[in-house]
Amino acid sequence: MDFRFTPEEEAFRSEVQEFLKQELKPGWEDAFDAESELGVEAHGEFARNFNKKLSERGWLAIAWPEEYGGKNASVMQQVVYNEEMAYAGAPVGFNMGVAWVGPSLMLYGTDEQKQEFIPKITNLEHTWCTLYSEPAAGSDLAAIQTKAVRDGDDFIINGTKVWTSYADQADWIFALVRDSNEGKKQEGITFLLIDMETPGVSVSPILLISGKSPFCETHFQDVRVPIRNVIGKIGSGWTVAKALLGHERSMISDTFGAGGAKDRGKGSRLVALAREYVGETDGGRVSDPVVRDRIAEAEMETRAFGLTVQRSRDAAKAGHQPGPESSLFKVYATELNKRRHELMVQLLGPQALGWEGEGFDDDELALTRDWLRSRGNSIEGGTSEIQLNIIAKRVLGLPD
Ligand SMILES: Cc1cc2nc3c(=O)[nH]c(=O)nc-3n(C[C@H](O)[C@H](O)[C@H](O)COP(=O)(O)OP(=O)(O)OC[C@H]3O[C@@H](n4cnc5c(N)ncnc54)[C@H](O)[C@@H]3O)c2cc1C
Repeated sequence: MDFRFTPEEEAFRSEVQEFLKQELKPGWEDAFDAESELGVEAHGEFARNFNKKLSERGWLAIAWPEEYGGKNASVMQQVVYNEEMAYAGAPVGFNMGVAWVGPSLMLYGTDEQKQEFIPKITNLEHTWCTLYSEPAAGSDLAAIQTKAVRDGDDFIINGTKVWTSYADQADWIFALVRDSNEGKKQEGITFLLIDMETPGVSVSPILLISGKSPFCETHFQDVRVPIRNVIGKIGSGWTVAKALLGHERSMISDTFGAGGAKDRGKGSRLVALAREYVGETDGGRVSDPVVRDRIAEAEMETRAFGLTVQRSRDAAKAGHQPGPESSLFKVYATELNKRRHELMVQLLGPQALGWEGEGFDDDELALTRDWLRSRGNSIEGGTSEIQLNIIAKRVLGLPD
């Protein structure tokens, strides 16, 4: 793959930069809820308007075909776009509809389903949440027990899902439900789209130690869902779920692959922190050879990973769907992101110990929160241990 940018790609970069200059005027961050965690939905009015403008330009799902509201962007255009958004720290957020639901519908949806749901993803009419995990089925996802019983043209759903990010703000659900207990546990699972407004759906937020609540428990009590909302075949939801998890894992790794770009745009954030903290008289921690060595290692690792992600995206564009190799990226990206945050916290020393109150500035408090949040990255979308199991079995072909 050629990593250089053509004049057309550079022209596209200027277009993105111009857009960002127009939309992100000095001081824009004051209008943005920087304290919120991942999620377009959670970032408040400013982010919603910003994403609406991306949607109008076909940039929200820039890689998608134009008929679905995208721009059919080449891999390098996506790289340029992601880099510029990251340099600017733009509130592009995390959109489950774009990242997961759309790609799955394009693969497994009927024409009717594509027409009904995809435009509402790209015009932000619908936001989505994922209902996979259950109290007794996390890593062992095929153990789900939320029950779907056929009644004419509907399924009646009963059960409880847990750790559903932003269920209290989403309009639609994509869920795995069990329609049969016959055969292997991966059989008898169906993939369903459910309107959150359907009678019998209720959501209870799970409060975190921070007092925030990005997670919910979602309950189904006799919820009637039309069979036409099944994606793929009844009982074959595991196949759809696996494809979708491939996209989820790729998206998580892309996010952290671009994480380095954010820092590159403003120079290395790690170097800036090392200069700023401790020993203001001696130029900060950056003069310590051990610290310099660790920063250099982290930056090289991040850059190499970003290029590897780019190469794999090139293969994806050639029609290849993310398969078990997405686990390699997911485990590497999330562990790398944790290492980077660990290093930032060490550079800040005691200034990274703040939660709220006096003695800490907003950047320090945000970094502490980001560091804690980074620990969730290697759990969501399947834990690192589960990714290693997948790599062992399905990539390396090792026996059980
Ligand atoms: C930030 C965040 C957001 C999330 N958002 C969502 C969401 O929107 N929707 C949703 O459905 N879920 C969501 N989840 C849930 C997530 O998918 C599960 O937490 C995850 O799959 C692990 O399941 P569990 O919590 O039940 O842990 P368990 O499965 O109980 O695992 C506990 C520990 O045992 C290890 N373990 C389990 N089985 C094995 C094995 N076979 N081999 C080796 N080690 C093993 C795990 O790695 C882990 O360390 C989210 C989680 C987080 C942290």
